[in-house]
Amino acid sequence: MAKIFRVGDLDVTCIDDGILKSSVDFVLGMDREDASKIAGAADDGSIHIPVNNFLFQRDGATILIDAGAGNTMQPTLGRLPENLRSAGFDSSAVTHILLTHLHPDHANGLVDDNHQAIFTNAEIVVHEVEFEFWMCDGAPDESDALKRTRARNKINMKPYLDRVRLMRDGQVLMGCSPILAPGHSPGHTCWRIETGREALIAWGDLVHFSAIQIPYPQSAVKYDLDADLARGSRLRMLELIAAEHLAVAGAHVNAPGVGYLSKTDAGYRFEPA
Ligand SMILES: [Zn+2]
Repeated sequence: MAKIFRVGDLDVTCIDDGILKSSVDFVLGMDREDASKIAGAADDGSIHIPVNNFLFQRDGATILIDAGAGNTMQPTLGRLPENLRSAGFDSSAVTHILLTHLHPDHANGLVDDNHQAIFTNAEIVVHEVEFEFWMCDGAPDESDALKRTRARNKINMKPYLDRVRLMRDGQVLMGCSPILAPGHSPGHTCWRIETGREALIAWGDLVHFSAIQIPYPQSAVKYDLDADLARGSRLRMLELIAAEHLAVAGAHVNAPGVGYLSKTDAGYRFEPA
């Protein structure tokens, strides 16, 4: 399903890749019962979160944020190409894909089941820290999970290697600039998108369980490679977003996925756009 939001002078379409089944057991720094209650978890602790992608057009370009999971994770995911089509965009019309990070639910959808490019005309735009982390050989003693994601990212990137644009903080492409917000992954990136009047921050997985981590941003998730670093990035970015009254587009923020933050005693409140 697609929904269009007006942010400043930009129309941003939220297009989901489906639903990711997760669990309250992945929440760190909060009592399990409290977390279950706040997130509205099922009796077995399961939490269903959306996997949102965002699309907008400017300067003749069609820009997509993140690429979904493809058929690699859960049967409820991998809907991005079909949902793009229903929203009026063929995957071949996408000219740029800004990646927030290279985890499976954001990058595995770059290629089909035969490892061919889904986005035949798109340039991949990614923070150099994130790209270099996943494309290097890695330490021999790193975890199997890291090894698997690293191997898969080489498959994800292979058909795009002649059209990857690496960026670093301070650089701008069509009004889009990367802000390194590490912890969830080493090069996890929030994209700042200028929209004329106000800016939009596509924050990737700065927040994984929006019902929990927006009101209680001190809580972290086991998906974070470095939970303390991720917490620091989250606190810093949320403060900036609320102070500057920026719009946010969250990969796993519950519907409608786009909104604003206001400060509360313990954290923030999400105000849907
Ligand atoms: Zn994610």
